[in-house]
Amino acid sequence: MRSRPLLPSLLLLGSLTLTAACAHGTSEPPVTSSADARPGSSPSPVRTVDPSKIKGLEIDNDSSESNSCPFATSFPDVPGAEAMTAAMKEYVDRRLATFRSGACGDDTGGTEGRDLNISHQFLVASGDVLGVRLTTQDQSAAADGLSAGTYWYDGKAGAYRTALGLVADGSRDAFLAALKDQLKDREGVDAAYLDDTFSDPDSRDTALDDMAFTADGGLRVHFDRGDVGVPAAGAQTVTIPKKTITPWLSAFGKRAQRQTVSPSRSLDLGAPHVPAPAVPTHTASGDDDTDCKKVKCIALTFDDGPAAPETATLLTYLAQYKARVTFFTVGQNVAAHPDLVRAEAKAGHEIGNHSWNHPDLTGLTPRQIASQLNRTSAAIKAATGKTPTVFRPPYGAINRTVKAATTLSPVLWDVDTEDWKYRFPAKVAQTVIDKTQRNDVVLMHDIHATSVAAVPQILRALTARGYHFVTVSHLRATL
Ligand code: ZN
Repeated sequence: MRSRPLLPSLLLLGSLTLTAACAHGTSEPPVTSSADARPGSSPSPVRTVDPSKIKGLEIDNDSSESNSCPFATSFPDVPGAEAMTAAMKEYVDRRLATFRSGACGDDTGGTEGRDLNISHQFLVASGDVLGVRLTTQDQSAAADGLSAGTYWYDGKAGAYRTALGLVADGSRDAFLAALKDQLKDREGVDAAYLDDTFSDPDSRDTALDDMAFTADGGLRVHFDRGDVGVPAAGAQTVTIPKKTITPWLSAFGKRAQRQTVSPSRSLDLGAPHVPAPAVPTHTASGDDDTDCKKVKCIALTFDDGPAAPETATLLTYLAQYKARVTFFTVGQNVAAHPDLVRAEAKAGHEIGNHSWNHPDLTGLTPRQIASQLNRTSAAIKAATGKTPTVFRPPYGAINRTVKAATTLSPVLWDVDTEDWKYRFPAKVAQTVIDKTQRNDVVLMHDIHATSVAAVPQILRALTARGYHFVTVSHLRATL
């Protein structure tokens, strides 16, 4: 999706960047992946997959919480599908490296849609078929806005497959002809350009990197803006009905189609069975009666999780000191690990909302902001039985539009550990110990093992100084 050859775009409109920027400024910002992934919304090409049913699933998260370098990336790591995980990682690492070498350090005080966001959606996780879609949002100068790609794993063959691997080699020409037939009369699509794109193997593979089956067995082919026409014409989607596409599918494509239409059983990619890591079972003993008017309080907050196994380790440390904290959870991680969120709540911690996939909310429409927050609150409610009352905007980026789009109370922070940047437990611990004052809210991230490793030292040192660790809402209520 990223390595699209630049030449055809340049031939068509001169400057892809300029066009993308204009489109962003004059119309509604491109929808984030969440809109596509929202269960029940019409653009969703496939059935909803419950990721918490995938054994041994880990989500590989990376993010900053910084205005000057706003990024958040995620992709799943499913046992048995290592080659597919490696392909996603290669893509994410490349995009992130480009972003960090270019757009970072521009500290203008606000992010306003300048963030790099890569989020994931499961398409199929059934039988021997795994399908994942990565959606990338990047408005930085050198990039192209919104793009997506699908990744497939064939458990029977033990092989990673690209989207084009769904179609049999011998039927590729017929498939391409059918796509051309549907695309050629669309506004902004040029027939000669289409011919060039589909005849060059690299351009073809890049353009045809996003395919998934619809719930009724059709094949939905999505082209990013600029893939098959002038960027100003936007993205293009072609759906080839089941009857037409079925004879053209590869053996793997047929299995992927079947597992999409009627998922038969849980995912089994033939990975050796590894017992699931234990989820801590600490139970809070009643309500917290700490009076922050009388004693020194501090509210530690942990963003971007839950993450396995880091969050489980953190819960064990917190229980040892009877410390209560606030977790600002990301919806797509709550969906993957509801058991960890349940354990957080049971141990007396507060669960806050940190959006579905960590976009800069100030770059979204009111409807998109509400979707990001409501969907996450629903996932938290499903996991814990309780709807959150507080939210933390990713990057601390908030404006009037964001505030108006939700009834949740925003929570920023007093002490920033910058633990996303400094992956050293001793440095993270020392920052908190040195900077924290009474009633401060401290920003940390439980997706990083290094941040979790800093926690025992923080709890030990600040307990010795007479601090009590309370949730954000408890701190606010007792001041
Ligand atoms: Zn965050």
